[in-house]
Amino acid sequence: MKNMRLFIFIALLLVSFTLSAEEKVVIRFEYPTAQVLKEFTPEFYDIASFKPGQYLDIVVTRSKYEELLNRGYKIKIVQTEQQLKQNLKDKRELTAYRNYNEVLTELQLIEANNPTICKLYDIGETWGKEYSDNGNSNYDIYHQEVWALKVSDNVLVEEDEPGVYYMGTHHAREPISCEVTMAILNHILDNYGTDPTITDNVNNSQIWFIPLVNPNGHKLVIDEYDVWWRKNIRDNNENGYIDSYDGVDPNRNYGWEWGPVGTSDDWSSDVYHGPEAWSEPEIVAMKNLLESHHFVTGITYHSYSELVLFPFGYNDGVIAPDHDALEELAIEMAVTIPSAYGGNYTPQEAWELYPCMGTTDDYSYGQHGIFSFTIELGTEFIPPGNEIQGICDDNIQAAMILLDRVNYQTLTGIITDSETGLPIVAEIYIEGIDNTGVYREPYQSDELFGRYYRLLETGNYDVTFSADGYFSQTFENVSIISGDTTILNVSLEAADPPDISINPTSFTVNLQSDETTDENLRISNDGEYDLIYNLTHEDRDSGGSDIFGYSWKDSDEPDGPIYSWRDISGMGTLVNFTHNDYATNLLPIGFTFNYYGTDYTQFRISPNGWLGFGDDWTDWHNFELPRVDAPKPAIFGFWDDLYPFDGSNGGGDVYYYGNSDSLIVWFDDVIHYPGTWNGTYDFQFILYANGQILLQYRTVSGDIDTSTIGIQNESGDDGLQVCYNENYVHNELAVLFKKDWLSISPASGNVPGTSYNDISLTFDASGLPEGTYLKNLMINSNDPDEPLTIVPINLYVGTIFQPETPQNVVIEIVGSNINISWDAVTGATSYTVYSDADPYGTFSNVEQAGITGTFWSESVSEEKKFYRITASN
Ligand SMILES: [Zn+2]
Repeated sequence: MKNMRLFIFIALLLVSFTLSAEEKVVIRFEYPTAQVLKEFTPEFYDIASFKPGQYLDIVVTRSKYEELLNRGYKIKIVQTEQQLKQNLKDKRELTAYRNYNEVLTELQLIEANNPTICKLYDIGETWGKEYSDNGNSNYDIYHQEVWALKVSDNVLVEEDEPGVYYMGTHHAREPISCEVTMAILNHILDNYGTDPTITDNVNNSQIWFIPLVNPNGHKLVIDEYDVWWRKNIRDNNENGYIDSYDGVDPNRNYGWEWGPVGTSDDWSSDVYHGPEAWSEPEIVAMKNLLESHHFVTGITYHSYSELVLFPFGYNDGVIAPDHDALEELAIEMAVTIPSAYGGNYTPQEAWELYPCMGTTDDYSYGQHGIFSFTIELGTEFIPPGNEIQGICDDNIQAAMILLDRVNYQTLTGIITDSETGLPIVAEIYIEGIDNTGVYREPYQSDELFGRYYRLLETGNYDVTFSADGYFSQTFENVSIISGDTTILNVSLEAADPPDISINPTSFTVNLQSDETTDENLRISNDGEYDLIYNLTHEDRDSGGSDIFGYSWKDSDEPDGPIYSWRDISGMGTLVNFTHNDYATNLLPIGFTFNYYGTDYTQFRISPNGWLGFGDDWTDWHNFELPRVDAPKPAIFGFWDDLYPFDGSNGGGDVYYYGNSDSLIVWFDDVIHYPGTWNGTYDFQFILYANGQILLQYRTVSGDIDTSTIGIQNESGDDGLQVCYNENYVHNELAVLFKKDWLSISPASGNVPGTSYNDISLTFDASGLPEGTYLKNLMINSNDPDEPLTIVPINLYVGTIFQPETPQNVVIEIVGSNINISWDAVTGATSYTVYSDADPYGTFSNVEQAGITGTFWSESVSEEKKFYRITASN
């Protein structure tokens, strides 16, 4: 057995040498240009640090460094492997960087010495443990768990107290983050009982410490197998040992806005986000922890850059609804942490560092409303051992500020049922905050106590409390003052559930081609609390469209549009872009163009292959549609990172040309932003005054499966996606978008008790051939008895239409008569009753024709008969 272990040890050492066969270094671009920032993105390079306007650090091999030098970049080496290894070994007075066993032993000792206020929990697994348990002895030394220590009075009880967390070591090569987390823990315990604020905060909060979120990766670094290792040790290529294809970036695996920005699908990438959100056991452990307690604030420590980051971070320009209060707290903390270069740590929104998806902070804040911060410690991944203590000391005050934050400028209280006094899970909506910024989940009171917390800036707020089954309550001008909490306990009165009724219950409309008409649908709520509804519709005989009523077809379909290129060469106006990701200013369309029910007279052209009618969107990533955090309202002809910016150097040009009935925008052999993907695309948008949109692709070559094609509305919640990163476009392809004959406005809403909303249905027969068009309008609502209401809709264009089959036929024997009745059919002028002795027969026997009512009767006879009823006009 001993020999076996020795063998494994040597095998792993060998593996580690192949992991980093070529030495890596951290290189620095001083004052990086926009061009450098565009090329050296986290998708393709291992970004170590970025200080806007100051420097960009990336991890590269020595040969890559030489190559970049030869290409003329002004770069210098700021950290080498030798230095980092030396830093790991350096001793501070007591000890150097802790290893897993030292952390665990210390946590166990702390729990043993402070049994009334400390409890240690095993909160999750690691891949190393799982592989080892499954018999792969290569992983025996990684048989580790994720540990969390809770600190609070009555530590075994889940009390009505706010939760605070401190996490370390998502990233393996950032062991200083473990040290700082342990230092905060020790500081709190050392001062408990003597420092009144700390004592109070321990007694009245529940503080969680997770110093090693990623113990397996941490071990790889601490043992110097690979000091550059960042991820966990998931065996991506399933070869049974750790190699350079392995690992998932834990801080890209959280399930809020998990996706492509600032991440990679490649196993070997340092920002590989995993096969799906929550694929990693360490991150599932974090999820379970965050879901099981009422956390209000938290910090996750990383290194390096001397930053205090606040959410959101998943895309350029995404603003959190609580942005101002988050920023205030970030500043409050940052000014207490000295920078090695003089001054203090820099507070900023996470996306300003670089946008990336699937992080702790975005999930914590987006899903749970936790004021969660990332602090990037120090100026290198592994500061020298003799600097550990200083960095820890420097960060204590900020951690204590976070711990105390719930005790000032906070609105809190419990929400209960006015009759039973039991806690209620209710939503807490604050006007001016919750209706700003991008989406996050609404704040709710917790199930156990009905407790809610809102961290705010000083000021006066209108606050609304609502819950299904209760009357909502609004409190106006609730004061939030500095230095104190505002307590607002609320009891909500139970209300009867919503009760939907609609009028009319069906629509039949006759139009001539080119006619349009509006009809009213009234949705009433005969119950007490709000009825919430949304409307969709689908053809009764074939596939659907988007909510508003656009649908699309391409020229590959038999009844699709015909490809016919509109040549505007020599006629169009050349577009001058000021930046390869910035759209033009608004330009005149030349006619009134109706898009998703709104009239537009101006549009803008983005170099990245889309036309917009609203604000610019400067992020170059393409996504699936519809999507809130994307250009909107917009038409996506070929949404990708295109490069018409540099036409004189072969990037291609963009022209537009319009008259009173159409506008043409032509991307003339525009190339993909050069680099990982390359391609050349010649395509055009044609917007027609009748609202139709035609996209035409003349020639496309190179990478064609990296774009999004489609349309979406002003709020980004409705749209059509023709393709997303698929092999779809080809030469001489046309795609036509047109509005359905039915549009609904508004398609969703809220009806207070004993009230109603009117909804406008617009029937537009323009361009429709004579015939019958049938739809179902579906109303989904929170009426507990009737969650789905279906409204049949019939549109008859022209003069001839076929009545439908009579429904609800009832046959009864009354005395010596057989009575047959049925529902009236819209548009029918008469009915015919047929009979046959065989149910599968021809029913050629006419019992009676020309019946004008909905009832027919005959005497009972001995023969067996089956009946058929038809409607005619
Ligand atoms: Zn990190």
